Amino acid sequence: MSNYKIAVVPGDGIGQEIVPEGLKVIEAVAKKHNFTIETESFDWGAGYYLRNEKFLPDNGLETLKNFDAVYFGAVGLPGVDDTLPAKDYTFKVRTSFNQYVNYRPVRSYPGVPGPLRSEKEIDFVIVRENTEGEFVQVGGQYLPDSENGMGVDTSIFTRKGIERVAHYAFKLARTRRKKLTHITKSNTLINSLAYWDRVIKEVAEEYPDVEHDQMYIDNSTAMFVLKPEIFDVVLTTNLFGDILSDLGGAVMGSLGLGGSGNINPEKEFPSMFEPIHGSAPDIAGQNIANPYGQIWSAAIMLDHIGETEAANNIMQAIDKTTKQGVLTVDLGGNANTSEVADAVITNL
Ligand code: ATP
Ligand code: MG
Repeated sequence: MSNYKIAVVPGDGIGQEIVPEGLKVIEAVAKKHNFTIETESFDWGAGYYLRNEKFLPDNGLETLKNFDAVYFGAVGLPGVDDTLPAKDYTFKVRTSFNQYVNYRPVRSYPGVPGPLRSEKEIDFVIVRENTEGEFVQVGGQYLPDSENGMGVDTSIFTRKGIERVAHYAFKLARTRRKKLTHITKSNTLINSLAYWDRVIKEVAEEYPDVEHDQMYIDNSTAMFVLKPEIFDVVLTTNLFGDILSDLGGAVMGSLGLGGSGNINPEKEFPSMFEPIHGSAPDIAGQNIANPYGQIWSAAIMLDHIGETEAANNIMQAIDKTTKQGVLTVDLGGNANTSEVADAVITNL
């Protein structure tokens, strides 16, 4: 019987409510599919920062290396400078563990009213480059208080960084409907994103069986709303992927529905699985947060560590549960956080 070691980092706000619900689902599905999960919980995040002036201890990354995966909620609290968590927790884990793929699927949930007029089935995956680009935090604020003050951020896209995420995305497309759309803005970012386009086109030649097209970010945001059914695999940069995945969440019906994985495809380091939304302090502590995205992240995690049947089982149970109308407030329902997880477990 396989045993997996999972590091659990609930983080802040609703992370502390939805992560335990996700864990209940993981434990139930493990029992059904004959494997065991050993978990250890870490109280890192913005709350930890207020007590220790850092988001995780100095040996935090070393500690995480001993696990098969990290199951993460969200980091952030009002009153903690929101430029810090990205720099000190999320970005640190993503870059140190070479989690260069941010895998963010978008799909219609049965029984969930989406905001779009079209009833067409939506099923695509955003592959967001997760370690470089616009998020490298190279730059500075110069003479910020003076009349001539300026703020500068530099985007860095490397051949290696673009190629590795592109290979992942093309291979993923091969397992799906064999269509890849890559999204940039090379008509105005004529150095960085034109280079991105060039490298993607070179990689595309190795995948002649995958239909490949290119779209600009402005047009693609409109297409996400008007014709989301045309997408299969969407490959894009760190910043555009961040924005598009919130739009993807909205297109599904709520930010609370999106699951994701920060993936190191070579498995040299653990990957980290988290919902696409943040810690939502405005609704924390009320047991009303939508846990579907956190539960979906559990399925993505189990698939990554090799328990694909268990992952599929979770997805079927989610579908059955939303179809039954077990919906949280953000979806127009009245089920609370734990009732959703309990219903998913019953439907496994
Ligand atoms: P981050 O910077 O970490 O991405 P954010 O500032 O973008 O965070 P979120 O925490 O994602 O903000 O919240 C945005 C809005 O979506 C809030 O109004 C929040 O209540 C709502 N929201 C987010 N997640 C959920 C959820 N799981 N269930 C219900 N509502 C949610
Ligand atoms: Mg956000």
